[in-house]
Amino acid sequence: MRAVVYRGINDLRVETVPVPRTGRAELLVRVAACGVCPTDIKKIQYGTVAPPRIFGHETAGTIVRVGSAVRGWKTGDRVALHHHVPCLECHACRHRAFAQCAQYKRTGITAGFEPAGGGYAEYVRVMPFVLPGVVKIPSRNTFLEGAMLEPVNTVLKAVKRLNLLRGDAVLVAGQGPIGLMFTRVLALRGIRVLASDLLDSRLELARQFGAKWIMNAGSAGSGKAPEDWRTPRPRGTDFACRTAELVKRLTGGRGLDAAVIAVPSDEVVREAQQLVRGGGQVLLFSHTRRSTETSLDLATICVDEKDLIGSYSADFLLQREVARLVFSRKLDVRRLITHQFSLEETAAAIALASGPTVESLKIVVVSDYLRLSTNRNRELF
Ligand SMILES: [Zn+2]
Ligand SMILES: [Zn+2]
Repeated sequence: MRAVVYRGINDLRVETVPVPRTGRAELLVRVAACGVCPTDIKKIQYGTVAPPRIFGHETAGTIVRVGSAVRGWKTGDRVALHHHVPCLECHACRHRAFAQCAQYKRTGITAGFEPAGGGYAEYVRVMPFVLPGVVKIPSRNTFLEGAMLEPVNTVLKAVKRLNLLRGDAVLVAGQGPIGLMFTRVLALRGIRVLASDLLDSRLELARQFGAKWIMNAGSAGSGKAPEDWRTPRPRGTDFACRTAELVKRLTGGRGLDAAVIAVPSDEVVREAQQLVRGGGQVLLFSHTRRSTETSLDLATICVDEKDLIGSYSADFLLQREVARLVFSRKLDVRRLITHQFSLEETAAAIALASGPTVESLKIVVVSDYLRLSTNRNRELF
Protein backbone atom coordinates (compact mmCIF):
# COMPACT_ATOMS: atom_id res chain seq x y z
CA MET A 1 0.00 0.00 0.00
CA ARG A 2 1.03 3.61 -0.27
CA ALA A 3 1.86 5.59 2.83
CA VAL A 4 3.41 8.93 3.68
CA VAL A 5 6.47 8.15 5.77
CA TYR A 6 8.12 10.72 8.03
CA ARG A 7 11.85 10.30 7.45
CA GLY A 8 13.20 13.31 9.33
CA ILE A 9 12.53 17.01 9.92
CA ASN A 10 10.24 18.27 7.13
CA ASP A 11 10.94 15.10 5.19
CA LEU A 12 7.78 13.24 4.19
CA ARG A 13 7.98 10.62 1.47
CA VAL A 14 5.32 8.66 -0.33
CA GLU A 15 6.49 5.07 -0.07
CA THR A 16 5.19 1.58 -0.65
CA VAL A 17 4.91 -0.31 2.63
CA PRO A 18 3.22 -3.59 3.57
CA VAL A 19 -0.46 -3.54 4.48
CA PRO A 20 -0.44 -3.99 8.28
CA ARG A 21 -1.02 -7.53 9.55
CA THR A 22 -3.74 -7.73 12.14
CA GLY A 23 -4.23 -10.07 15.08
CA ARG A 24 -7.30 -11.91 16.40
CA ALA A 25 -8.40 -8.98 18.52
CA GLU A 26 -7.73 -6.26 15.94
CA LEU A 27 -9.34 -4.48 13.00
CA LEU A 28 -7.98 -3.41 9.65
CA VAL A 29 -9.50 -0.18 8.37
CA ARG A 30 -9.21 1.27 4.88
CA VAL A 31 -8.63 4.98 5.41
CA ALA A 32 -11.10 7.32 3.71
CA ALA A 33 -10.19 10.64 5.32
CA CYS A 34 -7.66 11.95 7.81
CA GLY A 35 -7.56 15.48 9.18
CA VAL A 36 -4.32 17.45 9.29
CA CYS A 37 -3.67 18.36 12.92
CA PRO A 38 -1.23 20.94 14.34
CA THR A 39 0.18 18.42 16.82
CA ASP A 40 1.46 16.25 13.95
CA ILE A 41 2.75 19.30 12.08
CA LYS A 42 4.80 20.24 15.11
CA LYS A 43 6.39 16.79 15.28
CA ILE A 44 7.23 16.92 11.57
CA GLN A 45 8.66 20.44 11.64
CA TYR A 46 10.61 20.23 14.88
CA GLY A 47 11.52 16.55 14.74
CA THR A 48 10.34 15.98 18.30
CA VAL A 49 9.98 12.24 17.70
CA ALA A 50 12.34 9.81 15.98
CA PRO A 51 11.66 8.73 12.37
CA PRO A 52 10.42 6.67 10.62
CA ARG A 53 6.73 7.06 11.42
CA ILE A 54 3.41 7.37 9.63
CA PHE A 55 1.39 10.19 11.14
CA GLY A 56 -2.28 11.13 10.89
CA HIS A 57 -4.68 10.52 13.78
CA GLU A 58 -7.99 12.14 12.81
CA THR A 59 -8.98 9.09 10.85
CA ALA A 60 -12.21 7.73 9.39
CA GLY A 61 -12.66 4.79 7.04
CA THR A 62 -14.21 1.41 6.35
CA ILE A 63 -13.54 -1.80 8.24
CA VAL A 64 -12.11 -4.35 5.82
CA ARG A 65 -10.95 -7.08 8.22
CA VAL A 66 -12.27 -8.13 11.61
CA GLY A 67 -10.22 -10.37 13.91
CA SER A 68 -12.02 -13.53 15.08
CA ALA A 69 -12.04 -12.33 18.70
CA VAL A 70 -13.53 -8.92 17.93
CA ARG A 71 -17.21 -8.49 18.78
CA GLY A 72 -19.58 -5.78 17.58
CA TRP A 73 -17.96 -4.87 14.26
CA LYS A 74 -18.23 -6.24 10.74
CA THR A 75 -16.51 -5.57 7.44
CA GLY A 76 -18.08 -2.67 5.60
CA ASP A 77 -18.82 -0.68 8.77
CA ARG A 78 -17.95 2.99 8.33
CA VAL A 79 -16.09 4.18 11.39
CA ALA A 80 -14.21 7.02 13.05
CA LEU A 81 -11.14 6.10 15.11
CA HIS A 82 -9.44 7.36 18.25
CA HIS A 83 -5.75 6.58 18.50
CA HIS A 84 -5.65 7.04 22.29
CA VAL A 85 -7.96 5.38 24.79
CA PRO A 86 -7.47 5.54 28.58
CA CYS A 87 -7.54 2.48 30.84
CA LEU A 88 -10.20 4.05 33.11
CA GLU A 89 -8.64 2.31 36.14
CA CYS A 90 -5.30 3.92 37.01
CA HIS A 91 -4.72 6.80 39.42
CA ALA A 92 -4.82 9.42 36.63
CA CYS A 93 -8.03 7.96 35.19
CA ARG A 94 -9.73 7.95 38.60
CA HIS A 95 -9.04 11.68 38.61
CA ARG A 96 -10.40 11.85 35.04
CA ALA A 97 -6.99 13.11 33.89
CA PHE A 98 -7.12 10.74 30.94
CA ALA A 99 -4.38 12.48 28.96
CA GLN A 100 -1.98 11.59 31.81
CA CYS A 101 -2.87 7.86 31.82
CA ALA A 102 0.01 5.58 30.78
CA GLN A 103 -2.20 3.53 28.45
CA TYR A 104 -3.63 6.71 26.93
CA LYS A 105 -0.16 7.86 25.99
CA ARG A 106 0.31 4.73 23.88
CA THR A 107 -0.83 5.07 20.28
CA GLY A 108 -3.10 2.21 19.31
CA ILE A 109 -3.41 2.83 15.58
CA THR A 110 -0.64 2.26 13.09
CA ALA A 111 0.17 1.82 9.43
CA GLY A 112 3.65 0.51 10.23
CA PHE A 113 6.86 1.53 12.08
CA GLU A 114 6.53 3.07 15.56
CA PRO A 115 2.75 3.60 15.99
CA ALA A 116 1.90 7.26 15.25
CA GLY A 117 -1.69 7.20 14.03
CA GLY A 118 -1.08 5.94 10.51
CA GLY A 119 -3.89 7.94 8.91
CA TYR A 120 -1.66 9.12 6.07
CA ALA A 121 -1.72 5.65 4.58
CA GLU A 122 -4.21 3.45 2.75
CA TYR A 123 -4.82 1.06 5.66
CA VAL A 124 -4.43 1.17 9.42
CA ARG A 125 -4.32 -1.51 12.09
CA VAL A 126 -6.54 -0.85 15.11
CA MET A 127 -5.11 -2.46 18.24
CA PRO A 128 -7.26 -4.10 20.94
CA PHE A 129 -6.87 -1.38 23.59
CA VAL A 130 -8.26 1.36 21.31
CA LEU A 131 -11.28 -0.67 20.12
CA PRO A 132 -13.52 1.12 22.66
CA GLY A 133 -12.66 4.31 20.76
CA VAL A 134 -14.14 3.11 17.46
CA VAL A 135 -17.33 5.02 16.59
CA LYS A 136 -19.82 4.08 13.88
CA ILE A 137 -20.57 6.80 11.34
CA PRO A 138 -24.32 7.03 10.61
CA SER A 139 -25.27 6.42 6.97
CA ARG A 140 -26.38 10.02 6.47
CA ASN A 141 -23.00 11.36 7.57
CA THR A 142 -19.72 11.54 5.69
CA PHE A 143 -16.25 10.22 6.40
CA LEU A 144 -15.11 13.82 6.63
CA GLU A 145 -17.50 14.38 9.52
CA GLY A 146 -16.22 11.19 11.14
CA ALA A 147 -12.65 12.44 10.88
CA MET A 148 -13.62 15.54 12.88
CA LEU A 149 -14.76 13.67 16.01
CA GLU A 150 -11.32 13.72 17.60
CA PRO A 151 -10.69 17.48 17.32
CA VAL A 152 -14.26 18.27 18.40
CA ASN A 153 -13.77 16.04 21.42
CA THR A 154 -10.68 18.00 22.46
CA VAL A 155 -12.74 21.19 22.27
CA LEU A 156 -15.71 19.85 24.23
CA LYS A 157 -13.34 18.53 26.89
CA ALA A 158 -11.82 21.99 27.27
CA VAL A 159 -15.22 23.70 27.41
CA LYS A 160 -16.21 21.39 30.27
CA ARG A 161 -13.24 22.66 32.25
CA LEU A 162 -14.79 26.12 32.31
CA ASN A 163 -17.19 27.11 35.10
CA LEU A 164 -19.78 28.90 33.05
CA LEU A 165 -23.39 29.96 33.47
CA ARG A 166 -25.79 30.62 30.61
CA GLY A 167 -25.38 34.18 29.40
CA ASP A 168 -21.73 34.41 30.45
CA ALA A 169 -19.34 36.30 28.20
CA VAL A 170 -16.32 34.40 26.88
CA LEU A 171 -13.50 35.47 24.58
CA VAL A 172 -12.35 32.91 22.04
CA ALA A 173 -9.02 34.20 20.76
CA GLY A 174 -8.24 32.74 17.34
CA GLN A 175 -10.89 31.57 14.88
CA GLY A 176 -9.03 28.83 13.07
CA PRO A 177 -10.83 25.48 12.85
CA ILE A 178 -10.38 24.86 16.59
CA GLY A 179 -11.40 28.38 17.63
CA LEU A 180 -14.50 28.14 15.45
CA MET A 181 -15.41 24.85 17.11
CA PHE A 182 -15.08 26.57 20.50
CA THR A 183 -17.27 29.41 19.32
CA ARG A 184 -19.98 27.02 18.18
CA VAL A 185 -19.89 24.73 21.21
CA LEU A 186 -20.02 27.70 23.60
CA ALA A 187 -22.80 29.41 21.65
CA LEU A 188 -24.86 26.21 21.75
CA ARG A 189 -24.57 26.38 25.55
CA GLY A 190 -26.01 29.85 25.70
CA ILE A 191 -22.68 31.60 26.15
CA ARG A 192 -22.15 35.05 24.61
CA VAL A 193 -18.95 34.62 22.62
CA LEU A 194 -16.57 37.41 21.70
CA ALA A 195 -14.63 35.94 18.78
CA SER A 196 -11.31 37.49 17.80
CA ASP A 197 -9.02 36.85 14.87
CA LEU A 198 -6.86 38.75 12.43
CA LEU A 199 -8.93 37.63 9.46
CA ASP A 200 -12.32 39.11 8.69
CA SER A 201 -13.29 36.04 6.66
CA ARG A 202 -12.89 33.90 9.76
CA LEU A 203 -14.76 36.41 11.89
CA GLU A 204 -17.65 36.27 9.47
CA LEU A 205 -17.78 32.51 9.87
CA ALA A 206 -17.54 32.94 13.64
CA ARG A 207 -20.62 35.12 13.46
CA GLN A 208 -22.43 32.41 11.52
CA PHE A 209 -21.29 29.87 14.12
CA GLY A 210 -23.02 31.87 16.83
CA ALA A 211 -20.52 34.46 18.07
CA LYS A 212 -22.38 37.39 19.58
CA TRP A 213 -19.52 39.79 18.99
CA ILE A 214 -16.54 39.71 16.66
CA MET A 215 -13.31 41.64 16.96
CA ASN A 216 -10.45 41.96 14.53
CA ALA A 217 -7.42 41.50 16.77
CA GLY A 218 -5.29 43.46 14.33
CA SER A 219 -7.36 46.57 14.72
CA ALA A 220 -9.25 45.98 18.00
CA GLY A 221 -12.72 46.24 16.65
CA SER A 222 -12.49 48.34 13.52
CA GLY A 223 -13.28 45.28 11.42
CA LYS A 224 -10.68 46.15 8.82
CA ALA A 225 -8.66 43.32 7.34
CA PRO A 226 -4.94 43.81 7.81
CA GLU A 227 -3.14 43.65 4.49
CA ASP A 228 -0.75 40.91 5.63
CA TRP A 229 -2.15 39.12 8.62
CA ARG A 230 0.86 36.86 9.04
CA THR A 231 3.15 39.65 10.15
CA PRO A 232 2.57 40.28 13.86
CA ARG A 233 0.31 43.23 14.55
CA PRO A 234 1.71 46.10 16.56
CA ARG A 235 -0.23 45.46 19.74
CA GLY A 236 1.16 47.42 22.66
CA THR A 237 -0.75 49.52 25.15
CA ASP A 238 -2.94 51.32 22.66
CA PHE A 239 -4.37 48.09 21.34
CA ALA A 240 -4.79 46.68 24.86
CA CYS A 241 -6.61 49.83 26.03
CA ARG A 242 -9.03 49.79 23.14
CA THR A 243 -9.73 46.10 23.65
CA ALA A 244 -10.28 46.63 27.38
CA GLU A 245 -12.73 49.44 26.66
CA LEU A 246 -14.57 47.29 24.17
CA VAL A 247 -14.88 44.39 26.63
CA LYS A 248 -16.04 46.73 29.39
CA ARG A 249 -18.73 48.08 27.14
CA LEU A 250 -19.89 44.62 26.08
CA THR A 251 -20.02 43.18 29.58
CA GLY A 252 -21.49 46.14 31.44
CA GLY A 253 -18.13 46.89 33.08
CA ARG A 254 -17.76 43.45 34.64
CA GLY A 255 -15.19 41.83 32.37
CA LEU A 256 -15.17 38.45 30.69
CA ASP A 257 -16.11 35.32 32.58
CA ALA A 258 -13.49 33.32 30.71
CA ALA A 259 -11.11 33.41 27.78
CA VAL A 260 -10.09 30.52 25.54
CA ILE A 261 -6.69 31.04 23.95
CA ALA A 262 -6.63 29.14 20.66
CA VAL A 263 -3.48 30.86 19.39
CA PRO A 264 0.06 30.14 20.63
CA SER A 265 0.76 33.69 21.76
CA ASP A 266 1.89 34.65 25.27
CA GLU A 267 0.92 38.23 24.66
CA VAL A 268 -2.66 37.21 24.01
CA VAL A 269 -2.61 35.31 27.32
CA ARG A 270 -1.44 38.42 29.19
CA GLU A 271 -4.14 40.50 27.51
CA ALA A 272 -6.79 37.92 28.31
CA GLN A 273 -5.76 37.89 31.97
CA GLN A 274 -6.57 41.58 32.07
CA LEU A 275 -9.89 41.19 30.29
CA VAL A 276 -11.22 38.41 32.51
CA ARG A 277 -13.06 39.37 35.71
CA GLY A 278 -11.78 38.38 39.15
CA GLY A 279 -12.45 34.68 39.73
CA GLY A 280 -12.67 34.05 35.98
CA GLN A 281 -10.66 31.60 33.92
CA VAL A 282 -8.12 31.74 31.14
CA LEU A 283 -7.81 28.45 29.28
CA LEU A 284 -4.76 27.64 27.16
CA PHE A 285 -5.40 25.35 24.22
CA SER A 286 -2.58 26.05 21.77
CA HIS A 287 0.48 26.47 23.98
CA THR A 288 1.90 23.07 23.11
CA ARG A 289 5.54 24.11 22.67
CA ARG A 290 7.58 23.78 25.82
CA SER A 291 9.42 26.88 26.94
CA THR A 292 10.79 28.19 30.20
CA GLU A 293 10.42 31.85 29.42
CA THR A 294 7.21 33.56 30.30
CA SER A 295 6.40 36.82 31.97
CA LEU A 296 2.91 36.48 33.32
CA ASP A 297 1.69 38.56 36.23
CA LEU A 298 1.16 35.77 38.75
CA ALA A 299 -0.73 38.08 41.11
CA THR A 300 -3.63 37.95 38.67
CA ILE A 301 -3.88 34.29 39.63
CA CYS A 302 -3.18 34.66 43.36
CA VAL A 303 -4.88 37.94 44.23
CA ASP A 304 -7.50 38.24 41.51
CA GLU A 305 -8.21 34.48 41.56
CA LYS A 306 -8.14 34.31 37.80
CA ASP A 307 -7.46 30.66 37.12
CA LEU A 308 -4.96 29.87 34.40
CA ILE A 309 -5.80 26.40 33.14
CA GLY A 310 -5.03 24.21 30.17
CA SER A 311 -6.62 21.38 28.28
CA TYR A 312 -4.98 18.83 26.05
CA SER A 313 -6.23 15.94 23.99
CA ALA A 314 -9.60 14.19 24.16
CA ASP A 315 -11.88 12.86 26.90
CA PHE A 316 -12.91 9.30 26.12
CA LEU A 317 -16.11 9.57 28.17
CA LEU A 318 -17.38 12.43 25.98
CA GLN A 319 -17.34 10.30 22.85
CA ARG A 320 -21.14 9.86 22.61
CA GLU A 321 -21.85 13.51 23.26
CA VAL A 322 -19.30 14.49 20.61
CA ALA A 323 -20.80 12.06 18.08
CA ARG A 324 -24.26 13.55 18.68
CA LEU A 325 -22.93 17.08 18.31
CA VAL A 326 -21.19 16.35 15.01
CA PHE A 327 -23.56 13.85 13.41
CA SER A 328 -26.66 15.93 14.23
CA ARG A 329 -24.80 18.81 12.53
CA LYS A 330 -25.53 21.16 15.43
CA LEU A 331 -21.83 21.69 15.02
CA ASP A 332 -21.59 21.43 11.24
CA VAL A 333 -17.94 20.55 10.77
CA ARG A 334 -18.38 20.35 6.99
CA ARG A 335 -18.28 24.12 6.93
CA LEU A 336 -14.81 24.07 8.46
CA ILE A 337 -13.25 21.84 5.82
CA THR A 338 -11.91 24.04 3.04
CA HIS A 339 -9.30 21.84 1.38
CA GLN A 340 -8.95 18.20 0.49
CA PHE A 341 -5.68 16.68 -0.68
CA SER A 342 -4.83 13.21 -1.95
CA LEU A 343 -2.47 10.97 -0.02
CA GLU A 344 0.34 11.81 -2.47
CA GLU A 345 -0.21 15.49 -1.71
CA THR A 346 0.06 15.09 2.07
CA ALA A 347 3.22 17.22 2.29
CA ALA A 348 1.39 20.05 0.50
CA ALA A 349 -1.58 19.62 2.84
CA ILE A 350 0.70 19.97 5.85
CA ALA A 351 2.46 22.98 4.33
CA LEU A 352 -0.88 24.72 3.81
CA ALA A 353 -2.04 23.86 7.33
CA SER A 354 1.12 25.33 8.83
CA GLY A 355 0.95 28.49 6.72
CA PRO A 356 -2.79 29.08 6.36
CA THR A 357 -4.23 31.45 3.78
CA VAL A 358 -7.20 33.78 4.01
CA GLU A 359 -9.57 31.08 2.86
CA SER A 360 -8.04 27.94 4.40
CA LEU A 361 -9.42 26.35 7.55
CA LYS A 362 -9.46 22.63 8.21
CA ILE A 363 -7.44 20.57 5.75
CA VAL A 364 -8.10 16.89 5.18
CA VAL A 365 -6.22 14.18 3.33
CA VAL A 366 -8.66 11.93 1.49
CA SER A 367 -8.12 8.60 -0.18
CA ASP A 368 -8.40 8.21 -3.93
CA TYR A 369 -11.46 6.03 -3.73
CA LEU A 370 -13.34 8.92 -2.22
CA ARG A 371 -12.08 11.64 -4.53
CA LEU A 372 -15.04 11.46 -6.86
CA SER A 373 -15.98 15.07 -6.81
CA THR A 374 -14.91 17.30 -9.68
CA ASN A 375 -14.43 20.36 -7.53
CA ARG A 376 -12.85 18.65 -4.60
CA ASN A 377 -11.99 21.72 -2.59
CA ARG A 378 -15.55 22.92 -2.43
CA GLU A 379 -17.76 19.90 -2.79
CA LEU A 380 -18.14 17.80 0.31
CA PHE A 381 -19.06 14.17 0.19
ZN1 LIG B 1 -5.60 16.13 16.30
ZN1 LIG C 1 -5.55 5.10 33.09
